[in-house]
This record gives sequence, structure tokens and C-alpha cells, in this order.
Amino acid sequence: MFETLLQIFFPITCLLCKNSERNYLCDHCDRKLPRREQACLICQRKSAIGTTCFTCINATIPDGFYAPYTYRSGLKTIINRAKRSDSERVFENLGSRLAASLPEMNLTDYVLTAIPLHKSKYRARGFNQSEVLANQISLRTNLRYERLLSRTKKTQEQKKLSLKARNENLKDAFKVTKSNLNGLKILLIDDIVTTGASTLSATRVLKAAGAKKVIILALASDR
Ligand SMILES: [Zn+2]
Ligand SMILES: [Zn+2]
Repeated sequence: MFETLLQIFFPITCLLCKNSERNYLCDHCDRKLPRREQACLICQRKSAIGTTCFTCINATIPDGFYAPYTYRSGLKTIINRAKRSDSERVFENLGSRLAASLPEMNLTDYVLTAIPLHKSKYRARGFNQSEVLANQISLRTNLRYERLLSRTKKTQEQKKLSLKARNENLKDAFKVTKSNLNGLKILLIDDIVTTGASTLSATRVLKAAGAKKVIILALASDR
């Protein structure tokens, strides 16, 4: 009842075509969004589900990277428009799309966690979009969600920095919230992966704390 009233007074429409489908991204527009070919995060060699190849893998980098969408026009438009509307709900819708797109992977003993925001940014926005995505995946996969990381310093916006400055910017940016993560298998959720610097930095910290596996799941990437 309440949902119906909400839909009458505040109809949810697709942010791309304005059709009312009770989803900020309708099925029709979703089908038109460009999809990525999955590849090794390090060397970009094609891989069906984004597994890091055996020549690239080492003790500090992710074991896999999966992101269904290319970070280009359609999805960029949605993210930009999300900032002007009910953005937490937009990320919920996108999270269910991400969950529905997951390929066959044996994830039964994995724990979900998200790239954290700095406290001040979290307060300003009211939610962490990566955590919203992770919660949607948790709902659909029954995998447990846990906050395993915190952000220790306020980092500058990455895209304005050179590669060297980016790495410096993210040095010691994350820490684990538990004393050890021995043997844990982790699905680390990020919203958009561009340079990969923050996911690599967070993975290093998780593995240094004992995590056995870390697979990155993101909505989109321009890699
Ligand atoms: Zn649409
Ligand atoms: Zn590789």
C-alpha cells in the first residue's frame, strides 16, 4: 500500500528513457548498455570470468576481477543523474542488476565486503554506494556482508592525479577492522574501477591480514 502511494506521488522512472518501470534502469535500457569482455586485471588477457592469470598472480593482488558494464555513456549518465535524485535507491537497482549478472562462480564460502568511504564523506552522502551494491548481492546470494575495511585517511580525487601521485595518495589509505582474517575468502565490492589503484591497495591490506582469496566485483570499469 505504502509502496503504491509512493509510486503514485513519486514515480520511479528509468533515468535514461524516463519510462516508468519502478526501476531507475529499465530492462530495455539495461540491454543496450555496453558490456565488458572479462579479462585479467593485471595483463588484460581475456578470461571468461575475470580470473587473474597464473603468470600474474602473487600473494598481494586480487585473484579475480569481474565487472559487467563498460564505464561509458549510458552508465555514466545514470551515475551522474543519480547524484541529483534518490541515489541510494539508484544504487540498489544497479546492485540487483550486478547480482543478476554474476557468472557461474563457486562463491559459497566467500564473505562480502565493500571499499569504504572516509568518515567525513560517508557523513556527507549518508551511505556508501559500494556497500549498497554489496547488500544487494548479499540479499540475492545469501553471502554474509561484513565491514572488514576502514579508510584511514581522506584521499584526494584520483582522476586529478598522476599515476605516481595516485599510488602515494592511496598508500596506507585502508586498514582492516579485525586483528586477522586468516583463511578468509573475500568478495570485495567497488562501484567503478578506473585505474584499479584503490582496489589493489585494499586487496594488499586484506591479504596482508591473512585473507586467502580476494575477488573484486564492480559495477563497471573502463579497463
Ligand atoms: Zn529505460
Ligand atoms: Zn594476467
